[in-house]
Amino acid sequence: MAERTSIRIRGSHRVSPPSSALRGRVVVAAVAVGAFAAAAAGQTLKAGQSPDVAPIADSKDASAAIGIGGDSSSAAPDILTVAKVNAAPQESQKIAASDRIVQARAAKLAAEEAERNRPKYVKPAEGRLSSSFGSRWGTTHYGLDIANRMGTPIVAVADGTVIEAGPASGFGLWVRIQHADGTVSVYGHMESFSVYEGQDVQAGERIASMGSRGYSTGPHLHFEIWDADGMKVNPQPWLAEHGITF
Ligand SMILES: [Zn+2]
Repeated sequence: MAERTSIRIRGSHRVSPPSSALRGRVVVAAVAVGAFAAAAAGQTLKAGQSPDVAPIADSKDASAAIGIGGDSSSAAPDILTVAKVNAAPQESQKIAASDRIVQARAAKLAAEEAERNRPKYVKPAEGRLSSSFGSRWGTTHYGLDIANRMGTPIVAVADGTVIEAGPASGFGLWVRIQHADGTVSVYGHMESFSVYEGQDVQAGERIASMGSRGYSTGPHLHFEIWDADGMKVNPQPWLAEHGITF
């Protein structure tokens, strides 16, 4: 901008000291071409230093007179200036675009980190372990009972797909979720459920509310684990294997 301002001043024949670079060129040229050019250059320099004296020739005219291409020296900065004005939005667009790429990359990394760090196994319900897997009252109890208040959240123990959600004999209502390794987790006696068959769920995602439907003596979650062969296994060591204890 400074260059452009000084050019405009020179162009309008205002008094302005020539730039040191231009002055240098004038002096070099003056030595080369002789006395006339030296006089012209001298006038120019004098004019620059004495505002009250009308210049005979400004530095641009002096340059042209002595044949060192004054016009090209004044045109070049104008072109550069225009180019800069046009380039600025492109540059800022490039910066904005690269910012977006950086931000998208950061968001992707954050999502990947969140995915790595999120728990893959979650306690299916908070509460008191009121009954374990095994013999009970002359029969076999195939799950864990976790007792808590009516409406306590029941969540998916791990990522999986809901393979059944609805009424079931003895369970009142149940939800069954199949996991990647073929294991099925079973949740029973709930007051209500909020998932549907075919729905993918994540570990810790709420699927139901604790209730006392079916063969139940009070609000609790009946929780079973079926292995890939459909065998009902003791959920407690299975949970412990995945870091969940009561
Ligand atoms: Zn039970």
